[in-house]
Amino acid sequence: MNTEVILASNNAGKLRELRGLLAELGLDLISQGELGVSAVAETGSTFVDNALLKARHAARESGRAALADDSGLEVDWLQGAPGVHSARFAGEGADDARNNRKLLELLRDVPAAQRSARFRCVLVYVDSATDPAPLIGEGVWEGRILAQPCGGGGFGYDPLFLIPELGCAAAELAAAEKNVRSHRGHALRELLPKLRARVAAKC
Ligand code: IMP
Repeated sequence: MNTEVILASNNAGKLRELRGLLAELGLDLISQGELGVSAVAETGSTFVDNALLKARHAARESGRAALADDSGLEVDWLQGAPGVHSARFAGEGADDARNNRKLLELLRDVPAAQRSARFRCVLVYVDSATDPAPLIGEGVWEGRILAQPCGGGGFGYDPLFLIPELGCAAAELAAAEKNVRSHRGHALRELLPKLRARVAAKC
């Protein structure tokens, strides 16, 4: 089995986190940008749809195995929004700061007890674009939306995501600690045994 796997994302934060998590399997993760693979429109209505779409597209264009994640923030007060639209919550091309500002505005005056939210991540691995049996892992991370940003680490909504049992924001965690707790960490730990079995079957 080729140890190079293409990550169907150009998000440096995700690449860093997933590379660390995948190193234990001996898989070398390369971002799709490094191989000149184009981004595909995320037209699915679920995290699974979008992750599968991205993984198949990256595998098709690169001719390699591919890993894709689709993830986002679900805020209960907003009936699960921004969900699959998390990256572009404040409009096409919006950056993290604008998305976070919009979230804070929508939750202005909402009491702490009603600011429950979770990150959700679906990871999909395919051996090829036509792989008939994609491997899927899913993870969630429960928390609450803060009234103001805290911490300088992580990416995306991390400065607004309170981890209740720690009393701090996700952006205040060291990368290794975030990997242990995060939706992406949980999704990968669900995916890893399946991936390990796939690797073993190919040797
Ligand atoms: P995706 O690239 O379509 O999966 O978009 C994911 C978006 O959800 C990101 O751009 C972030 O806004 C948000 N997101 C996903 N995972 C995290 C995380 O671990 N921390 C903070 N924000 C995240």
